[in-house]
Amino acid sequence: MADPCLFCRIASGEIPAKIVAEDTTCVAFRDVNPQAPVHVLVIPRAHVPSLNEVASPALLADVMQMAREVAKQEGIAAGGYRVVLNTNGDGGQTVFHLHAHVLGGRRMNWPPG
Ligand code: 5GP
Ligand code: ZN
Repeated sequence: MADPCLFCRIASGEIPAKIVAEDTTCVAFRDVNPQAPVHVLVIPRAHVPSLNEVASPALLADVMQMAREVAKQEGIAAGGYRVVLNTNGDGGQTVFHLHAHVLGGRRMNWPPG
């Protein structure tokens, strides 16, 4: 079997991360290179490379539910925040284990670039 990917290793606890929330399906941890005062990544525990390979809408619901909970916990829910799913090369994805970026604590620009 191939070595687990970076985010699988974070989900299993093999590689340390600043975890802010976790449940049976997902883990949320602070991005190592934050792009906003709040920058948390939410991942499913199951390895799925990107949005393109998601087989179950329930997995997306679990990720979005945790993203929403993290925003509330971080105190940015009412003021506003952004949830981003970069997908493949042109989408800017660099880690190929599905993850939602939860960004907030400052005004987000549009278009995102
Ligand atoms: P992507 O570019 O794939 O959408 O996002 C990957 C994110 O993972 C980047 O924002 C990057 O800073 C973050 N990242 C990469 N390696 C690590 C790591 O080892 N620990 C944490 N906490 N974040 C990481
Ligand atoms: Zn993985």
